[in-house]
Amino acid sequence: MLEVRVFSGEPRFMNTITSLEEMQKIALELHKKNKSIGFIPTMGALHEGHLQLVRESKKVNDITVASIFINPKQFGPNEDLTKYPRPIEQDKKLLDVKGTDYLFYPNVDEIYPSNFQTSIAVDKVANILEGKSRPGHFDGMATVVLKLFNIISPTNVYFGQKDFQQCIIVRQMIKDLNLQIKFHTVSTVRDPDGLALSSRNIFLNTQEREQALSLYQSLLLAKKLIDDGNKSVELIKKEMKKYLKKYKLIRLDYIEICNPENLSPVKVVSKKAVILIAAFVGKTRLIDNIII
Ligand code: AMP
Repeated sequence: MLEVRVFSGEPRFMNTITSLEEMQKIALELHKKNKSIGFIPTMGALHEGHLQLVRESKKVNDITVASIFINPKQFGPNEDLTKYPRPIEQDKKLLDVKGTDYLFYPNVDEIYPSNFQTSIAVDKVANILEGKSRPGHFDGMATVVLKLFNIISPTNVYFGQKDFQQCIIVRQMIKDLNLQIKFHTVSTVRDPDGLALSSRNIFLNTQEREQALSLYQSLLLAKKLIDDGNKSVELIKKEMKKYLKKYKLIRLDYIEICNPENLSPVKVVSKKAVILIAAFVGKTRLIDNIII
């Protein structure tokens, strides 16, 4: 049994746990000692966005656990599962330096043994936007997230606003299934020029990286139009599309303006709204959003 080190002031280092059973045991021990657990699920290839989630967790929890699991069930047949970056040694260092206590790093068979049969399907909020463009993606995501929650029994969980729909879906699942977990959304971390950090940005060449910026710029344009008093969703979308047309490497998937609580589409921007965008930049699919 691994020793559980929770006290500040001690020299500390991160424990990497690959066994599901062992992770569950550690979580149980921590709960017995009344320690709060902050949990950050990731797919690795970590950047400042992920590390911001770790920082938020460390502010309030006794113990911070991150997971790295590239979940095959949330990748479509034509998506980038095999290409997805896997710099595990670098990831471990980054998490360790930021004071993560445990990294849960299981392999695929540990999470999905051969006779695995269950899937979690969240309904309305998961079947639109990303769910429409990437069928099965959110079922895969919700299934693994619930499994991770059950293994780690977190007190608090931290997700990034960049994956806005994911936040809504996980929140809905927590509510619907009466999970005793507090959900936290952390603001999107961006490069200084505004590009939202993403593990997929490394696939962008110089030209694509430049043009990828137009996604956030189009969101800022929409914000300005709204700040200037424009309320018509149709007009705002039209202006965003016009702006994006200038960038030949951008292939827009969708722009939607939605109620940020439940993602229902809004026709007139009267109060809080979220503008969501998804586009291919060359072969790389990126998403971004802004709350108005
Ligand atoms: P991923 O590794 O892409 O599955 O992301 C793991 C977590 O990090 C998710 O909750 C993401 O929303 C979050 N995340 C990814 N990029 C960012 C970012 N730029 N800023 C804040 N959180 C992020």
